[in-house]
Amino acid sequence: MEKAISGVTIECIKGDIASQADVVAVVNAANAELKTGGGVAGALHRAAGPGLEEECRPLAPIQPGEAVVTGGHELLNDYVIHCLGPVYGRDQPEDELLANSYRNALEIAEDKKIDSIAFPAISTGAFGYPTKEAAKIAFETISNIIPELNTVKTIRFVLFDEDDLKIHAEELSQL
Ligand code: ADP
Repeated sequence: MEKAISGVTIECIKGDIASQADVVAVVNAANAELKTGGGVAGALHRAAGPGLEEECRPLAPIQPGEAVVTGGHELLNDYVIHCLGPVYGRDQPEDELLANSYRNALEIAEDKKIDSIAFPAISTGAFGYPTKEAAKIAFETISNIIPELNTVKTIRFVLFDEDDLKIHAEELSQL
């Protein structure tokens, strides 16, 4: 499933965020300490090797909605953009904080002149954000930012299972 808006392609695929060979940057659904863990952070840190956690150490902690960038180390990508999404029902206002995560990640991508970036579904795992609501916020935020983008041309959503892919594809088609 993909959609082009003003020259920027948004696509949804099923897969593993740690094995995206053809994008310059991948986004980490990070924890505040920028350490390895479960879910996306675990997958990315395992694939990147210990150098990633070392580079992250002086950048931590980060706040909900904030994003920071590191190199990709042993990943297939040049950069990792680490976003701390909101914990659903705790970090308020959660919709704005989630939107900030996407906005700040894309601003970093522009700063670094990155043309392709892959996102996981931030906050929808351990942080409990309902997938449909989160997908709606993600796509609305991205479509609002697209007019400001110059270097980013491909925005990929990498979903871990079929249900999440379906939900994202549906929300994207309604954009
Ligand atoms: P958060 O703490 O922000 O909720 P998680 O990593 O727990 O982040 O989960 C975010 C989403 O990413 C969930 O939908 C989860 O199923 C999914 N996910 C987990 N591992 C991977 C992976 N290796 N690649 C892509 N998505 C993943």
